[in-house]
Amino acid sequence: MGVSASERTDVLIVGAGPAGSCLGMLLAKGGYRTTILECRPRGYHKVCGDLLGPRSLGLLQSFGVGWRNDGPRGHGIRGILIHDEKGLKSSAWLDGETPWATTVRRDLFDSFVQARSEAAGCAIEYGVRFKDIKDSKGDGIVCEAATLEGSRVFETRVLVGADGFPSQVAKSAGLDGGGAATGILAVRGYYRGLEGLRDAVELYFLPRLFPGYAWVIPLGPDLANVGVGVRADACLQYRIRLAVELKRFLREHPCLARRARHAEPVGPLQGAAIGTYARRARRWRSRILLVGDAGRCADPLSGEGVFGALLSARLAGSAIEDTLRGTGGTENPLSRYGDRCARIFGKAYRYANFLTSLPMRKGLGRSIVTWGLGRIEANCLLDSQYAIMVAGFFTGAMPRSRIWGNGWFWRTLLK
Ligand SMILES: Cc1cc2nc3c(=O)[nH]c(=O)nc-3n(C[C@H](O)[C@H](O)[C@H](O)COP(=O)(O)OP(=O)(O)OC[C@H]3O[C@@H](n4cnc5c(N)ncnc54)[C@H](O)[C@@H]3O)c2cc1C
Repeated sequence: MGVSASERTDVLIVGAGPAGSCLGMLLAKGGYRTTILECRPRGYHKVCGDLLGPRSLGLLQSFGVGWRNDGPRGHGIRGILIHDEKGLKSSAWLDGETPWATTVRRDLFDSFVQARSEAAGCAIEYGVRFKDIKDSKGDGIVCEAATLEGSRVFETRVLVGADGFPSQVAKSAGLDGGGAATGILAVRGYYRGLEGLRDAVELYFLPRLFPGYAWVIPLGPDLANVGVGVRADACLQYRIRLAVELKRFLREHPCLARRARHAEPVGPLQGAAIGTYARRARRWRSRILLVGDAGRCADPLSGEGVFGALLSARLAGSAIEDTLRGTGGTENPLSRYGDRCARIFGKAYRYANFLTSLPMRKGLGRSIVTWGLGRIEANCLLDSQYAIMVAGFFTGAMPRSRIWGNGWFWRTLLK
């Protein structure tokens, strides 16, 4: 099949989410011909909790995209309120007056990073859906994509799957280890008129949603993102219907029922899957690699995925540059990308994945989790430092390693 010159690129990225757009920006800045295929129209509003945690904000700043000055105005978050099924159990106000996180509507966030990518010289083709790898001989990979007008063929030196979860690129490249049931399923809706919103993320750990949780995330004094996320295998095993659970949670939770009396939904409830750690998943193969949710870079405990998307984009950027320049020694630079991701995400995500698997185990597993959460709750009530640590652990505001290796935390838990 003939390939026109305009369809040839150094790097073809599938997906213009945060991972794809930021990677496109880095490579275009480095002078590489980079094209992103995005199956949705420009301005599409992706399903998300809209929370940019401290790790994501730090990375955005380091990308030099001018986030602090030119980014969309967000709503500053200063605290985390943790609830169980009966009520508020702990509140942690992090870093005093300074917001440690921000909430931004996802369509505004995505449009911002896409615009930055295009300004750097990366071409984003909207309404083009990657379908399959047709051929991958020698230096080139030939891919087929579909548009409303018909199919198009692209030839590229490196192909990147940044197409979220489950990933069509991963499937075409045979990198689809783990299966769709190993991610998280989540549903969210926007509500106006929910009373008592503060500059804090509200998390609700309810036994019927284990392993998972519900949230209320303010986007301003009168608008909240309300959602529920649960491990996909638990949704299947316990037949959890997330949309039903979300409405029930809002209607029945003792801390919300009164506050939600006059709450009005803004738009429909929408759901999506999040690509979290999977033991068998691989992130690269010869000249193909996976970033963000496609590469299972989202946190299995919290479902936070923007951080993993940005960090994997950064790691992928330097590996791809080495591949295209032929530098980086005898080792394939893309394998280095795989190793670095495994090192950075591997341990923390493996533990987190193990923790979320405990409630799925019959008998002891569920009892251990219930006991552990009870102890953590009690300690949070007694000691605000402990509450901050727990909140920091969950949201990534504090490096997880500081807690895994913290004798005081574990001694206090077992006391
Ligand atoms: C309900 C919910 C709440 C969440 N809340 C948060 C949160 O508060 N904070 C946080 O950090 N993370 C959150 N996440 C996770 C976060 O949204 C993802 O981890 C993050 O978007 C991953 O970014 P990405 O660039 O890898 O993929 P995505 O953002 O999923 O982008 C993938 C892109 O690829 C495109 N695409 C897909 N298939 C194709 C194809 N075949 N051809 C062309 N284009 C294609 C899609 O249209 C999409 O634009 C949430 C997720 C859900 C579902």
